[in-house]
Amino acid sequence: MRKILSVADIVTESENRHCTISEIVIEREQKLHEAGRKEIWDRMAGLWEIMKQSMVTAERNPARSLSGLVGEENKLLVEYMKTKGTLAGEGTVQAAARAMGVAALNASMGKIVACPTAGSCGIVPAVLLTTAEKTGAGKEKIIAALFTAAGIGMVIDENASTSGAEGGCQVECGAASCMAAAAAVELAGGAPAQAAHAGAIALKSVIGLVCDPVAGLVEVPCVKRNAIGAGNALLAADMALAGIKSIIPLDEVIGAAAQVGRIMPDSLKETAEGGLAATPIAREIARRLGVTK
Ligand code: SF4
Repeated sequence: MRKILSVADIVTESENRHCTISEIVIEREQKLHEAGRKEIWDRMAGLWEIMKQSMVTAERNPARSLSGLVGEENKLLVEYMKTKGTLAGEGTVQAAARAMGVAALNASMGKIVACPTAGSCGIVPAVLLTTAEKTGAGKEKIIAALFTAAGIGMVIDENASTSGAEGGCQVECGAASCMAAAAAVELAGGAPAQAAHAGAIALKSVIGLVCDPVAGLVEVPCVKRNAIGAGNALLAADMALAGIKSIIPLDEVIGAAAQVGRIMPDSLKETAEGGLAATPIAREIARRLGVTK
């Protein structure tokens, strides 16, 4: 059984068989792992439980990172929304708060699901829970949508990377945003092609995003990039559901991200030597924390 190498393959197969992307991914997972459907499904259901718990924990007990640089941004955002309303809309702000909460939980060594990485762990759960609340989708549909996210993530991993150290933040928070956008479209009842367009719109909007963590810690700018990644995913999903198409298909966007990752200098690939990590304030923080190069 060959791996999933292109989004176009998945979309074509799902269109030919009049089924969802998640159905194709579930079947391929079964064959890849020589496992029954229930085993594959239960494994994903278990991951969703951890994701849900991470969102509950982050909401009830907003975490501060070990360095103290991040934490409680989710609480501030929700309080602001409740007292003053929002400019971006409640769903987007709620998803952003959830994404930041889970990312901060990761920075405080809490339990999260790396999706696709620990640094970008807040985006997919936040977008799926928020979309499910909006659409009334139940647990079964959310788990199915997670398979859609996973299928898109596999293609990104196969054809580009899902490591900031290899391809920049475009393939961490960018990949998560792409996965979440596609999954949200399926959760909202959109067609497979629309899911692919949503993923393409989300990823191409952050292509070139560098990995430049302050002091080498997965905190700044990572936590806030999770918030923006969630908002990016929801807006991309809305655009695709409205019938807006990405002129560049998702497979080609992924190829472009891979190429950008290859020519990206090492200073912008998790080395904390460039970008935001090289700003005077970041250097000062690194010195204060005793993390100097
Ligand atoms: S900036 Fe780097 S470490 Fe932080 S989330 Fe993005 S890829 Fe991960």
